[in-house]
Amino acid sequence: MEIVKIVPHGFCAGVIGALKKALSLEGTVYCLHELVHNEIVVADLKARGFVFVERVEEVPEGSTVLFSAHGVSPAVRQAARARNLKVVDATCPFVQRVHDEARRYTEQGKFVYVIGKRDHVEVQGILGEIKNRQEPLPYRIAVVSQTTMNSDEVAARIEELRRTHEVETSAQVCNATKLRQDAVRNFTGDALLVLGSANSSNTRELGEVARCAKVFRAGTIEEVKALDLSGVKVLGVTSGASTPESFYEEAINVLADR
Ligand code: SF4
Repeated sequence: MEIVKIVPHGFCAGVIGALKKALSLEGTVYCLHELVHNEIVVADLKARGFVFVERVEEVPEGSTVLFSAHGVSPAVRQAARARNLKVVDATCPFVQRVHDEARRYTEQGKFVYVIGKRDHVEVQGILGEIKNRQEPLPYRIAVVSQTTMNSDEVAARIEELRRTHEVETSAQVCNATKLRQDAVRNFTGDALLVLGSANSSNTRELGEVARCAKVFRAGTIEEVKALDLSGVKVLGVTSGASTPESFYEEAINVLADR
């Protein structure tokens, strides 16, 4: 079996920045949600003493809270202030840009349509910026997008909305997501392995955009070892934006030894 390393893959600037911020902190740090959606990274942070919580109310008053790369809503920021928490914000600048756009549109009195997965923590944060809600949607709308969606689907959804609405938008997925998806679209082998966790949106989308017959995903080295790759002649290997390169290289070595 030939193994092809798909480039680019792995950590994006937003994840690197969030980890750098986290690792510079001392004392007990409460991280709101997973800092990035990767089980290896989260296990490592837990081993270093980070405490993971799902609600600001779980953080003891006056403690340090770390906001994850996915961003938080204004209501969460307000709740942190009310508890007198020391806030360290690891929100990715590209996610922050979507918040800023959603807030600007809202302040202009526009109705904002969000392309994304409603229950994803990034989308929950963005929705918190939006005050104007109306069903059904009015004719004039502004559109923003979750940063890690399938870039083709975002473009197609905007075109669909344009058929029935007047749309104002600069919505697009982040550059790191687009570059990783385009590299996978260009891969012509017969199978793709995406390394990353099941709850990572950009990892899942890498599998969705693949044009090869078989797509596998593995989040741990045990899962890599358990893959049934029988019949695969050319395997492309990529990884999500929150997957450590050390895991990627370990997985490549395991695959090469099979
Ligand atoms: S995938 Fe994009 S939006 Fe998400 S952390 Fe990385 S750079 Fe930021």
